[in-house]
Amino acid sequence: MAGEPQDDCLFCKIVAGQIPATVVRETETTLAFRDINPQAPTHVLVIPKAHHADAAALAAADPALAADVLRETRAVAEDEKLDSYRIVFNTGSGAGQTVFHTHAHVLGGRGLQWPPG
Ligand code: ADP
Repeated sequence: MAGEPQDDCLFCKIVAGQIPATVVRETETTLAFRDINPQAPTHVLVIPKAHHADAAALAAADPALAADVLRETRAVAEDEKLDSYRIVFNTGSGAGQTVFHTHAHVLGGRGLQWPPG
């Protein structure tokens, strides 16, 4: 069911404390932690604690929770003192999504090129 923890989900396990992560922010509904393979000086993932496979599923199932995630990306950027940064939701395997628990990548601390690869 939408929002329920999934046994085989890496990020549900991080939410449950079963896998360690470097948590930088936590709210009742969201978690923000450092990416294990950073692509920029700041690379933080912001996730809803509830399981939703990708950004499209989250937006459809729980728009208020999607807003919580977006609000936390801003808070991460403020904490990290980023004035320019990129928020990325890879959505679908063709776009490079590998973990199917929606997450916003917050990337900053270096110049970022456009378009991305
Ligand atoms: P991609 O792997 O192509 O970036 P995603 O957009 O699905 O695909 O991003 C998943 C992200 O999760 C990756 O940036 C990856 O480095 C990160 N990641 C995987 N395992 C962990 C972990 N245990 N702790 C923190 N970040 C992780």
